[in-house]
Amino acid sequence: MTWEVVIGLETHAQLTTASKIFSGAATRFGAPPNTQASAVDLAMPGTLPVLNKGAVERAIRFGLAVGGRIAPRSVFARKNYFYPDLPKGYQISQYEDPVVAGGSVAIVVEGVEKLVRLTRAHLEEDAGKLLHEQFHGMSGVDLNRAGTPLLEIVSEPDMRSAAEAVAYAKALHTLVRWIGICDGNMQEGSFRCDANVSVRRPGAPLGTRCEIKNLNSFRFLEKAIEYEIRRQVDLIEDGGKVLQETRLFDPDRGQTRSMRSKEDAHDYRYFPDPDLLPVVIGPDWIARVQGTMTELPAAKRHRFVAEFGLALEVATTLTASREMAEFYERLVARLGGLHKMAASWLTGEFSAALNRSGLEVNAAPVSSERLAALLQRVADNTVSGRSAKEVFDAMWNGGMEPDAIIDARGLRQVSDAGELEKAVDQVLASNAKQVEDYRAGKDKAFNSLVGQVMKATQGKANPAQVGEILRKRLAR
Ligand code: ADP
Ligand code: MG
Repeated sequence: MTWEVVIGLETHAQLTTASKIFSGAATRFGAPPNTQASAVDLAMPGTLPVLNKGAVERAIRFGLAVGGRIAPRSVFARKNYFYPDLPKGYQISQYEDPVVAGGSVAIVVEGVEKLVRLTRAHLEEDAGKLLHEQFHGMSGVDLNRAGTPLLEIVSEPDMRSAAEAVAYAKALHTLVRWIGICDGNMQEGSFRCDANVSVRRPGAPLGTRCEIKNLNSFRFLEKAIEYEIRRQVDLIEDGGKVLQETRLFDPDRGQTRSMRSKEDAHDYRYFPDPDLLPVVIGPDWIARVQGTMTELPAAKRHRFVAEFGLALEVATTLTASREMAEFYERLVARLGGLHKMAASWLTGEFSAALNRSGLEVNAAPVSSERLAALLQRVADNTVSGRSAKEVFDAMWNGGMEPDAIIDARGLRQVSDAGELEKAVDQVLASNAKQVEDYRAGKDKAFNSLVGQVMKATQGKANPAQVGEILRKRLAR
């Protein structure tokens, strides 16, 4: 009997507002400790929170993007707990009436698309940060991050493997950047996931879950879930029971370890924050935000498949970021077709070059215009696919026009029939043995002859044309 894995993710996306959710302090990353914490963030007596409209607007954008319901009236609540990074002794969050309910995110795993349902998305403030390394025998408290606006996005327990959880996290990461509500910078903690993991026998009720906190890379998310699945299965198969608890992932050991037993909602003594009015969102506000939305990643992906005949996986890669998708659209618009060729160049050479140089699409030294010019030269047989890669590298490193590089390096394919026939005849004359082998039914000999002609023309012959001429000559 096998085990079924059940995973639900809670994701914290830091919103891109310039100032905090309840104060005017800046949200910029990396300032010296405690230089971006106002009296409100420090919870000085007599201060009152004022809601940042931009944070609400971003939550509306998200709700529209996932097809969720935007609450006409949502409420901020106090979540009470004590920790030195939380000056007020409570976190302002949303509990019973979140700003967004429902919705879904589409993921693609092994060529199949699946919907992951969302439970809710709510607005809340971030806490500060404890610094343990700089002070001997003491801890420092940096409250710069206190009050930073977060959207917490909670999924239903719809994922059935670590691969699906990673695909979901990536799809969500793509979406929040696409609609401009979060910069998605995982090193800076702008996008982090908690993974809830349980296992059960197929058909049985949900098993007891463990929550692994603060996973800030897709690789750690995958490793942590894989380790946790193994741990729970081993534990149950050895006659033990999974305890509901909060666990931490240790990337150095590749293991999760217990942090604390899981608290229940009633431990937090949630109650509506009397300092903040309910948030009222009217249909006009929603309509205004809707008017600024552009085509979303899933819609674009489906269109690339339907209109351009791309494979679902390829279309998914091309729509992993808005910049890449738009680069592709500019490219095929210039080419007036060649959709598959353009897609394979972007997901192949172009993406590899971006990775190698650590650049974002918009900083690529090869523009869509120049790449289109190069692909045109492949399509009209001026250069072979192999030479085109050499031209591409030269464009990437030197920024010249493709035609100039083709001429400077003598990469023009020989398609002049007369010239090619001469080369073929010479090769046939001096390779009697292979000609004999071919006539005796050895197909390999044919490839070897093509190779000889390519060599004789320094790789500049058009291989398809060479094959054609050879076949004609040998048929005689
Ligand atoms: P909290 O963690 O704050 O107590 P919830 O009870 O709403 O919040 O659950 C949080 C997450 O845990 C959700 O993403 C949900 O899908 C997931 N989850 C709930 N039950 C299970 C389970 N048995 N196995 C795996 N994930 C679960
Ligand atoms: Mg939780």
